[in-house]
Amino acid sequence: MTTCSQCDGQGKVKCEKCGGTGKVQITEVETVSDMSRTSNTITCPKCNGERWQLCQRCCGSGEVNGKETTDTFEPDGRDT
Ligand SMILES: [Zn+2]
Ligand SMILES: [Zn+2]
Repeated sequence: MTTCSQCDGQGKVKCEKCGGTGKVQITEVETVSDMSRTSNTITCPKCNGERWQLCQRCCGSGEVNGKETTDTFEPDGRDT
């Protein structure tokens, strides 16, 4: 087992949507008030404010099997 380079062995990666803040800023167009635009900060819908997401590469284990490859298949040399 090798430490996952994607998450540096943490098993989680910073949420790309909120950049690890857990919140995202949305801009709403308001025509009712004097202010034409108001910005609201909402909880990040992608990570639900957790700020982290499960690492896709190691599925949260923080380790990957042997050499890092993109495929997850284990060739066993057998025909199915
Ligand atoms: Zn997020
Ligand atoms: Zn990982």
